[in-house]
Amino acid sequence: SQPDVLLAVEDLHVRYGTIPALTGLSMEVRRGSLTTLLGANGAGKSTTLNTVAGLMKPHSGRVRFDGRDITGVPAHRTARRGLALVPEGRMVVAPLTVLENLQLSSFARGRRTAALEEVWEMFPRLAERKKQPAGLMSGGEQQMLAIARAWMTKPTTVLLDEPSMGLSPALVDIVFEAISTIHAAGATVLLVEQNAAVALPLCDQAYLIHRGEIVAAGTPAELEADPDLIARHLGLD
Ligand code: ATP
Repeated sequence: SQPDVLLAVEDLHVRYGTIPALTGLSMEVRRGSLTTLLGANGAGKSTTLNTVAGLMKPHSGRVRFDGRDITGVPAHRTARRGLALVPEGRMVVAPLTVLENLQLSSFARGRRTAALEEVWEMFPRLAERKKQPAGLMSGGEQQMLAIARAWMTKPTTVLLDEPSMGLSPALVDIVFEAISTIHAAGATVLLVEQNAAVALPLCDQAYLIHRGEIVAAGTPAELEADPDLIARHLGLD
């Protein structure tokens, strides 16, 4: 593939037992881009991210990252190579403070960790709340913390699983600011979303997934030229 493709997924097939979740999914993420994968509930978005990150093994197909084949490479090793996953549901440790949640991330072996000062500068809202238990913050702030925690491992690439889920529009704005912040700081971003309205304006390239396959791909302008397509596949009609 071309040198500017950082992450490539080729003809991926993933099953849960006999239930097919991905049936020949292919997509590319260019270096430095913010790429979004849009799809409805159960379309296969989390399965795609989890397979790329190495939490699941595909039945067949390939995942290439930074010039190497990482198909089936477990998550602790993909993390060391610079892939960070911000999982669905945030998974911050509620009783621990913001600071402690970030310090937990320093246990990621074999990767330099970002200085806390850098994180406080990038996410001033977290700096103001560093001694607060994570569980007492708003959903948007918890999502921001999950993003900052991923940043602590100095990733080249950040995979985000539905960061807007369950958040009010005001909180979604906070989270998307945080995503823009890491992208501006140099991260390549693969963003999985159901919320096309917030994800499309931000991205360089978008893919639409339906029942385990890519059904459309293009720039935001190209996808927006067919609003019917998005409505149909995101179940908005
Ligand atoms: P969501 O927004 O609900 O997370 P998604 O697009 O991320 O949806 P996936 O979670 O990847 O979709 O699920 C893809 C398909 O695989 C769905 O049909 C789902 O029911 C099925 N699936 C997901 N996890 C499992 C599992 N642990 N066991 C069996 N089937 C599963």
